[in-house]
Amino acid sequence: MKKLLVANRGEIAIRIMRSAREMGIRTVAVYSEADRLSRHVLCADEAYLIGPAASAQSYLNVDKIIEVIKTCGADAVHPGYGFLSENATFARRCKKEGITLVGPSPEAMEVMGSKLAAKEAVKKFNVPLVPGTEGAVSDLNEAKSVAKEIGFPLLIKASAGGGGKGMRIVEKEEELEEMLKLAMSEAKNAFGDSSVFIERYITSPKHIEVQILGDQHGNIVYLFERECSIQRRHQKVIEEAPSMVVNDKLRKEIGECAVMVAKSCGYTNAGTVEFIMDESKNYFFLEMNTRLQVEHPVTEMITGKDLVKEQIKIARGEALSFTQEDLKINGHAIEVRVYAEDPMNNFLPDIGTIEQYIRPDGIGIRVDDGYVQGDSIPIYYDPMISKLIVHAPNRNEAIERMIRAIEEYQIQGVKTTLAFCKMVLDHKVFRNGKFDTHFVKNHFKPEMLQSADSDEMEMAALLAAFMQQNKSTSPQTKGLVASGSNWKKNRLQD
Ligand code: ADP
Ligand code: ADP
Ligand code: MG
Repeated sequence: MKKLLVANRGEIAIRIMRSAREMGIRTVAVYSEADRLSRHVLCADEAYLIGPAASAQSYLNVDKIIEVIKTCGADAVHPGYGFLSENATFARRCKKEGITLVGPSPEAMEVMGSKLAAKEAVKKFNVPLVPGTEGAVSDLNEAKSVAKEIGFPLLIKASAGGGGKGMRIVEKEEELEEMLKLAMSEAKNAFGDSSVFIERYITSPKHIEVQILGDQHGNIVYLFERECSIQRRHQKVIEEAPSMVVNDKLRKEIGECAVMVAKSCGYTNAGTVEFIMDESKNYFFLEMNTRLQVEHPVTEMITGKDLVKEQIKIARGEALSFTQEDLKINGHAIEVRVYAEDPMNNFLPDIGTIEQYIRPDGIGIRVDDGYVQGDSIPIYYDPMISKLIVHAPNRNEAIERMIRAIEEYQIQGVKTTLAFCKMVLDHKVFRNGKFDTHFVKNHFKPEMLQSADSDEMEMAALLAAFMQQNKSTSPQTKGLVASGSNWKKNRLQD
């Protein structure tokens, strides 16, 4: 592999290019008209415009991307996450054109891309499944009889769903008919496939997922679990590794179960097997994500493995250079996703220009970002600005480190999830580990951030008065007043 085209944008494109560069591989960026000045374009050795802002005409445009791969002479493509990463048609096309796709086979993508086909495949391997229907349900009477068996509340899920979309909770029988219709038409509109199925709705679950790597020689290893229960709209915002509710025995069991899932579809490359775990620590297979995951850095921090490099080596046909026994957990890692969203307003995207951008730094801190100060966040794509990752010897120190890092992180111009994440990390329920996927609903009220905000504003006003008195107007102290975080406040008192 001499030249790798990264068919993605933002932080993940940059993250992939970094590893490729360290391996002596030339990197190629593609970009839409909205991304002409984006940082992933500047990070690459070469960059090509592929179309208008709308992703359907750029980052999802298979023909155009294949054309660029051929004209620039790249021999491989890495799709990152989202966009074409789980698109079997794209994978098949690459194969036909003789381009190495850094990812699994189109067949594995196809099986795991359909939640129903995935359940069917893993069933033979004794993988525990959430009680529910085996196939698609479209008939109300069938739905009613399944509901009798598994009870309410239940969940109607789109087989082709993803990104937390295509799910409907049904609390009682009277709602079943309408919800079934709604779910089917939503699934058809959003995913082009109206197949839905019914699952028991686990009322107080944790989301636990296992990172796996499989090479083309039949070796598959698990790189332990990630705990991703802090979610909003069924989408993760804070992830950590390892999980504090998983002991060594369970870790081995669930890890080996994930390897079985990978075996069931002849999986190669990096993948994630997602499980849902109930209060009694029973775990059930949810789905497999056939790509590099947003939250992969927490696994990198605790295992010391560069997952992108491993992906590239596997795609080149190399055998894994380590065994399951070689893998050890070192310390604890936490990631918070920094979205341009307003937690005070139902986490609605808050796009605009990043007027001030100061990254945290110091021991155990990693920032994977896609923007610099002065950049605008386009409305066309996912509003994630960056991922802030910390690594420390244990969970408590990781939490303290993350809070310190969040306080250092200064983003002005758009609203972000930073203050919200700090609130979560500081919450006693997060600290004691007794939380589930409903943390946000059960423990978060926008007012909690409002009072933090007004404390900071009050402090900023005091500081402004203080500085007026001292006639201090250096740019540095101006910044301190504007930001008003605790860290800066404490620094000023020194
Ligand atoms: P992860 O599982 O890595 O935490 P998500 O499930 O949130 O990540 O998905 C990562 C990205 O891919 C997000 O931008 C999400 O919107 C997008 N995505 C995932 N699956 C689909 C899908 N089936 N259709 C459209 N977008 C998807
Ligand atoms: P997606 O493809 O959108 O990621 P998943 O099946 O992985 O869909 O589910 C996403 C999230 O939805 C899970 O992390 C969990 O919070 C919730 N969820 C999914 N299935 C269930 C279930 N049976 N009971 C309770 N919550 C569920
Ligand atoms: Mg999922």
